[in-house]
Amino acid sequence: MAKQPILGYGRQDISQGDIEAVAETLRADLLTTGPTVARFEEEFATRVGAEHAIAVANGTAALHLACLAAGFGPGDEVIVSPMTFAADANAVLYCGATPIFADVTDTHGHIDPEAISRAITTKTKGIIPVDYAGFPCAMSAIRKIAERSKLTIIQDGCHALGATYEGSPIGSCAFSDMTIFSFHPVKHMTTGEGGMITTNDAEAAALLQQLRNHGLQQPQDKVAQEGRWYQEVGQLGYNYRLNDIQAALGRSQLQRLDAFVAARRTIATRYDEAFASIPEINPLPPMEGASYHLYIIKVKDGETRRQLFDHLWEHGIRCQVHYVPVHVHAFYAERGWKSGDMPIAEEFYNHILSIPIYPTLGSEQERVIDAIKGFFDE
Ligand SMILES: *Cc1c(COP(=O)(O)O)cnc(C)c1O
Repeated sequence: MAKQPILGYGRQDISQGDIEAVAETLRADLLTTGPTVARFEEEFATRVGAEHAIAVANGTAALHLACLAAGFGPGDEVIVSPMTFAADANAVLYCGATPIFADVTDTHGHIDPEAISRAITTKTKGIIPVDYAGFPCAMSAIRKIAERSKLTIIQDGCHALGATYEGSPIGSCAFSDMTIFSFHPVKHMTTGEGGMITTNDAEAAALLQQLRNHGLQQPQDKVAQEGRWYQEVGQLGYNYRLNDIQAALGRSQLQRLDAFVAARRTIATRYDEAFASIPEINPLPPMEGASYHLYIIKVKDGETRRQLFDHLWEHGIRCQVHYVPVHVHAFYAERGWKSGDMPIAEEFYNHILSIPIYPTLGSEQERVIDAIKGFFDE
């Protein structure tokens, strides 16, 4: 038997055009903070229907800056999902605020609006909902809660670029104050490392631009007085810039986003149909507008999930489990959270498995399906 390629749960798709776009930037005068970042931002904002897009070094930097722009600080509580990457809760802590976990729904692993309501105290300042796996979460209900309690919504759209919710693209901020994205290679499109914040608030956009570049500003009166070189640190910022090389790849990948999302939807539909005849597993149910960063199946029996994972691994299929609930990580356990605090997320975690989904998967998808069918036929 010919050696079969190892399949990951996700991977990038780099075209000749992408490579040429990057090479062209390498020959340009400015490798960072040149014209390409601004173009990428404009094109991204247009694509998701937001007024402003601010490019940053990665998705976690996007979360950190969004939390700072929201004004989260010591004494504030921010409600986060336990069924996500640790970066959401971590970013709240970077600002000195306290992440408060609220449990999820067992259908799609989304933060549950009722759990949000129960978690609200007089200290609550914000909510960070996640469009888990690329399924848009209940933003309409979350928005109502936020308006009632005057909370800032930072939507984590890292899984949901290209998805729509009630007709609005994720990133348009129709239901959030800011939305953040990551361009890590497993996401819908990549810049190697990279991130973006979108918003319709001009003041927040200006603040975010300053914060990603050391907090530097050029007050016109002082420039007139001192000279054209004058700039000053107006507040504590960071070097969270995206560079022009990355932005060139981003612009090129953005043009391919529709095709990437279409490919993911086709793969998801094929899996849905193949697994309908396997009673031991349930895919997360399809949802209108989903863009499928992940394809997640729930294995009815938790013990079997582990065996299936090992079986697929032995067949060269590197699936994953997204996620170990954030509140049970050692670091959060030290901060007082424990197993049993988020019963639905914990039970959800016991059954989930992410299997390969990415635009170049092609006919290898049948290998994944055959391996899963083979496991249950044994
Ligand atoms: C990828 C991801 C992040 C972090 O993005 P990085 O670019 O890796 O820093 C945050 N939240 C979610 C849900 C993600 O999937």
